[in-house]
Amino acid sequence: MLETQKTSFREIYDHFAAPVTDIDCGLMCAPHNANGKPTCCDICQAVPAVYHPEWVYLQQSTGFWQVYRGDECVENPVSPERLLADTPEHMMLAACLGPAHCERPFRAISCRQFPFFPYMDTEGKFIGLAYEWAFETSCWVISNLERVTMSYRKVFATTYDYLFARWAHDRESYAAYSAEMRAHFVQQKRGIPLLHRDGRNYLLNPCTGSLEPSTKPFDRRGPYKEKNSDQAQP
Ligand code: SF4
Ligand code: SF4
Repeated sequence: MLETQKTSFREIYDHFAAPVTDIDCGLMCAPHNANGKPTCCDICQAVPAVYHPEWVYLQQSTGFWQVYRGDECVENPVSPERLLADTPEHMMLAACLGPAHCERPFRAISCRQFPFFPYMDTEGKFIGLAYEWAFETSCWVISNLERVTMSYRKVFATTYDYLFARWAHDRESYAAYSAEMRAHFVQQKRGIPLLHRDGRNYLLNPCTGSLEPSTKPFDRRGPYKEKNSDQAQP
């Protein structure tokens, strides 16, 4: 169990190490990504954010991470300032050496949490895992939520309990992000799939916050709608 008196990123990383699913999900999404990399490890698709004290730990421990410059995606360089404007102040953007060189013990918390974030209800209570909706059509896990392991769900929750107990601004930041998700799903007129802390899955009404137990698998999207898409795994 994580202790609560000091922030030890080694301890957090060792705790938050359960696999998201029972298979290597990178093998499932990579064939659908133009450059063949798992989507969340492709800097052209997702830029990792790290907490400032986490960055200190990473810098002291490995040469695997660099400050994000914006030109790492050769095909589509961007201004880092633009992305930083959307990054919470208590975090910074970073780039790793890529999936071929991944130093798994030094994966950032943002790597471990993907494709999820801690969902906060309208009263600011952390009630479960919601997904990064911008990746609905590219991330295989989002189309296979029923395969997320219970051990992952548990360590996800205890990790964020620990972080939120220490950093109120992180809790506030995710409360705002959860509100943004509700607004998006209201606009789309659909419910939010939620992996609840109670171990069950629900469809959350983004208008009222009510939870309807999910009785069938959630919708699959993008290339994963195809019946045989799971055969993408080599
Ligand atoms: S979490 Fe999603 S995007 Fe990342 S490797 Fe797994 S399937 Fe791919
Ligand atoms: S550290 Fe590893 S898991 Fe995280 S983005 Fe880089 S390659 Fe992917």
